[in-house]
Amino acid sequence: MAPAAAVPPAPAGGTAPWAGRVDGPLDCEVLVIGGGSTGAGVARDAAMRGLSTVLVERGDLATGTTGRFHGLLHSGGRYVVKDPMAGRECYAENVVLRRIAADCIEDTGGLFVTTPIDDPGYAEKFLQGCAATGIPVEEISVAEALRREPRLNPRISRALTVPDAAIDTWKTVWTCARSAAGYGARILPYHEVVAVARDGATVTGALARAPGGEEVRIRAEVVINAAGAWAGRIAAMAGCEVRVLPGKGIMVAANHRLVNTVVNRCEMPADGDIIVPIRTVSVIGTTDTQVTDPDDWPITRAEIEQMLEAGENLVPGFRQARMLRVWGGVRPLYQEAAPATDTRDVTRAHAVLDHRSRDGVDRLLTITGGKFCTFRLMAQDAVDAACAVLGTERPCRTADEALPDSEERRFYHIGSRLAGREATLHDDQLICECELVSRGRLEDALAQRGTASIDDLRRILRLGMGPCQGGFCIFRTAGILHERLKIPAAGANQALLDFLQERWKGVQPLLHGDQLRQAWLDDWIFQGTLDVEHLPKATVMPGRAPG
Ligand SMILES: Cc1cc2nc3c(=O)[nH]c(=O)nc-3n(C[C@H](O)[C@H](O)[C@H](O)COP(=O)(O)OP(=O)(O)OC[C@H]3O[C@@H](n4cnc5c(N)ncnc54)[C@H](O)[C@@H]3O)c2cc1C
Repeated sequence: MAPAAAVPPAPAGGTAPWAGRVDGPLDCEVLVIGGGSTGAGVARDAAMRGLSTVLVERGDLATGTTGRFHGLLHSGGRYVVKDPMAGRECYAENVVLRRIAADCIEDTGGLFVTTPIDDPGYAEKFLQGCAATGIPVEEISVAEALRREPRLNPRISRALTVPDAAIDTWKTVWTCARSAAGYGARILPYHEVVAVARDGATVTGALARAPGGEEVRIRAEVVINAAGAWAGRIAAMAGCEVRVLPGKGIMVAANHRLVNTVVNRCEMPADGDIIVPIRTVSVIGTTDTQVTDPDDWPITRAEIEQMLEAGENLVPGFRQARMLRVWGGVRPLYQEAAPATDTRDVTRAHAVLDHRSRDGVDRLLTITGGKFCTFRLMAQDAVDAACAVLGTERPCRTADEALPDSEERRFYHIGSRLAGREATLHDDQLICECELVSRGRLEDALAQRGTASIDDLRRILRLGMGPCQGGFCIFRTAGILHERLKIPAAGANQALLDFLQERWKGVQPLLHGDQLRQAWLDDWIFQGTLDVEHLPKATVMPGRAPG
């Protein structure tokens, strides 16, 4: 069986290519800035075409918008009426990703339902839109929809099935990175680009800053700006203006699988109109508000209320479920001409900008807009453009070659982790009960990631993401970090505190009922028995194991 998490293995006999220091300047043909789905896809594509490639990301991989999205592998249905081109692209890529990234996908299927607050006439437009864009759709009776999803609002009047699915973002991005590294790419998380180098009108590379403050100079023949909502800032470093509109959206996770199918309102895209079942939780989302700073956008109580209310409309009783977490992200929305005032009106299609023809700056490309589910196509278009800049013709192969662990084309299923756990029940300790993470898997991840940050480990293992939000696994993990990585106790304490703080951010705005009781218990564990606030602490560098 394929492993249940995308723990990236180190190459035989070596340290993981994403850990450790970089000595001296690096030379490459393609430098990719940004380690979200787009950047990871670009790095994989470029490396597979035989181009020497370096990717730099200011945080860990997939900690920008990609790690903060809704988890929906769109069928394209959401866009068939409003943005048919985006709908067509989503469906084409949905088919490709099912073929090459099966292990990252749970094939939940999708339903579009007409709820009492929806325009009853929209379903016909939806059916016509699906026919025009080639998205498979089937109308089923309301009784059949309720048989499949008994918690659905019984007052729905129509139900249409489409090939939506749930997709695991961290698994997808890390397996792309792993594949890229297998083709020789250098992947550098925690390397922030602080300057883009130019020789006259030609971009020649960039200067990145590592966690310890060391500067790494990277010389490149072409630079691909895949910095998502931050792409305008990178372009500005090269003297170009790119106006990316950051569209903020929030989501709330209920700690139960309230539906097993992706459920959408059959209506023009609106706030809180989709519930995605992701592993053991259900996520309602999302909103869309333009913000000015992609790094600074608070989540308000009113937005949370709006999501809970929207959940009630699709699944009555949604509010009574145990609410686990709230989080948000910023869409990188791009429209070259006449930017819209409402971010919902900006196309979800993507654009490749060649700054030579656009701004007179050579050897810099920006890939922007798009969706998570179209990242592979975005990467293909960006690398095609890079090949044109480099004067070489090399065909893209990413639509055909499966990602690591997806070779057998078997979809992930909800029972995978339990099945994996049962196989080691008697000989491997359990570290995270909620997410069934064993000590063996944690130690493998530690060795392979080379990081002293528990949050880095969370993203590849899902450690601390269940109902107790780390109440039991954090202190165990901190102890194992101390033992295995030989970090001083003060460093392990700091790792524990950093992770507690990170978890608290998403839980605190929602606390009530059972989750509040859980938080009290966690507080007692950490304050009452460990006195965490008074432990000796020392900074640990994210993304880097000491020594
Ligand atoms: C609320 C919400 C829900 C969504 N839901 C879905 C969905 O269900 N399905 C779907 O398909 N799409 C969804 N999307 C859209 C999708 O998440 C994004 O389009 C996609 O993840 C963008 O990926 P990216 O790689 O382009 O950007 P990002 O993931 O943001 O990657 C850009 C990276 O650049 C890095 N960076 C920035 N500055 C620097 C620097 N100076 N040096 C180095 N690195 C830098 C950032 O840290 C970041 O990691 C959603 C978006 C939002 C906001």
